[in-house]
Amino acid sequence: MKYISTRGGMAALEFSDILLEGLAPDGGLAMPEQLPQVSAETLESWRGLPYADLAFEVLSLFATDIPADDLRRLTRAAYTQETFNSEDIVPLRPLDGGLSLLGLSEGPTLAFKDMAMQFLGQVFEYVLGKRGTTLNIVGATSGDTGSAAEYALRGKRGVAVFMLSPHGRMSAFQRAQMYSLQDENIHNIAVRGVFDEAQDIVKALAGDLAFKTKYRLGAVNSINWARIAAQVVYYFHGWLRATSKPGQQVSFAVPSGNFGNILSGHIARSMGLPIRRLVLATNENNVLEEFFRTGVYRPRPAEQTYATSSPSMDISRASNFERFVFDLVGRDASRVKALWTSLARDGSFDLSDLLPQFESRYGFVSGASSHGDRLATIRSVYDATGVLIDPHTADGVKVARDFIEPGVPMLVLETALPAKFSETIEEALGHPAKPPGNLADLESLPQRVEVMDCDQAEVRRFIEAHAKV
Ligand SMILES: *Cc1c(COP(=O)(O)O)cnc(C)c1O
Repeated sequence: MKYISTRGGMAALEFSDILLEGLAPDGGLAMPEQLPQVSAETLESWRGLPYADLAFEVLSLFATDIPADDLRRLTRAAYTQETFNSEDIVPLRPLDGGLSLLGLSEGPTLAFKDMAMQFLGQVFEYVLGKRGTTLNIVGATSGDTGSAAEYALRGKRGVAVFMLSPHGRMSAFQRAQMYSLQDENIHNIAVRGVFDEAQDIVKALAGDLAFKTKYRLGAVNSINWARIAAQVVYYFHGWLRATSKPGQQVSFAVPSGNFGNILSGHIARSMGLPIRRLVLATNENNVLEEFFRTGVYRPRPAEQTYATSSPSMDISRASNFERFVFDLVGRDASRVKALWTSLARDGSFDLSDLLPQFESRYGFVSGASSHGDRLATIRSVYDATGVLIDPHTADGVKVARDFIEPGVPMLVLETALPAKFSETIEEALGHPAKPPGNLADLESLPQRVEVMDCDQAEVRRFIEAHAKV
């Protein structure tokens, strides 16, 4: 399996080569040259596999340059009952009215980012070890991604993490989650400013080529292909758990922001997994819902991006969307390039000529949800089933309900646990959500964080002093 760029300007590369990179050199994103196909017989032979071994089967189709024994060791190290607090790793729980929840948030940071990040931590350490090199991850976070990266890379050889966060602007639970890590290779930097200012410092450092090369700076952002590949696994797992015979169809509803999660569903479907519909759910920031309704993609500027009660979906520009468009236009890289040129020039592009294919050929449908919808959905699910869902998952349930069909299981991806967003649970139900038992005293643990001004030079000096060499 080789990887090419959505914009056509990259020589075909192996999985391990694209693992440590961000954008392709031509500004595009890496995609498999051809998608592997999984036959009905192969799919049946995977029934009953433990999650880690299913992950091996699926990922071995993508990471063809990693020897099978090594890859199996990596997936078994990533997906343990100990890390995921669950024997099944990804439990499937029935709700009411034909819906089930696919539990992707049993990992250490209580959100689905752990599913991909735990594998990434293993495979980073492995590839760096093979190549005898080191990597310093520098990033900015307002919550989920940064903490998932820290938990995945803590204690790993050859890699250090420098994660900037806005001082005093995360929830007490989120702060405790990140800052309580005591591993010597994890560095929390709280800057006196907002998230965008932290992000600007990271961009400036990564843009300084001499600094970037000398300290081998890397990123673990949402466009990383290994993350997308690792997420494909749970679509297979969900299908295998929800069906009992070949060819049976299942729909998935996906709370979406950067289009990473649902892109993995699109990949699984393109590999032959019998997925009927991919239901894309947004919150009030409905750029993607608008695209699937109208065929026009119009990202919004930061000042038109609302701060909502499903904050991890407050995204106006969907960084993985280009990969889906690549398939949509028949893998015509020159057309993708032209679309992104007109996006930069006009602020939008129009693919309404392909609108009829969105559902008929690719299974995509979409809907949007509001703060009021989230509260009502959290309440109705709790009243009907006693199950507490988080606000992002509530966006998924709300939209999924419009697309339920008799005889087709609808699996809503649970992208976070309610304890992470307890303020909204309290608003909906009048009482907060309790963290899982093992995290009950997280907020009383000692914390390790450097507080700094929003000063690029100060952050730079700190990295120079603590980087892996
Ligand atoms: C990241 C995130 C999302 C959005 O996922 P994308 O892959 O960006 O579409 C949804 N819910 C939660 C809780 C998240 O952390």
